[in-house]
Amino acid sequence: MAEQQARTKRPRGQRRPKHVPQRTCAACREKEAKRQFVRIVRTPDHRVEIDLTGKQNGRGAYLCTRRSCWNKAVTGNVLERALKVTLDQETRDILHRYADHHFRDE
Ligand SMILES: [Zn+2]
Repeated sequence: MAEQQARTKRPRGQRRPKHVPQRTCAACREKEAKRQFVRIVRTPDHRVEIDLTGKQNGRGAYLCTRRSCWNKAVTGNVLERALKVTLDQETRDILHRYADHHFRDE
């Protein structure tokens, strides 16, 4: 009978609002929750790596999964500016190869 009145109250105020981190593609500047972003990180010893865990230490930049964005970011100076680093040819090749294998043009 009185069971409906005895609803359990959840301690709402104690929970912090969920923080959804915003990612912005360094090349197209698009923010899209649905789109996957790949983190590129400049490691503390100044190498540039693709950070698939998203947790690697260092300065990070995000690129969306459009190959055109990767081409733009890697060939031009988008990534260099974002990471404040100079990309050597080997790193550029690695990034280009990664994009070639994983993404396609849209
Ligand atoms: Zn993009």
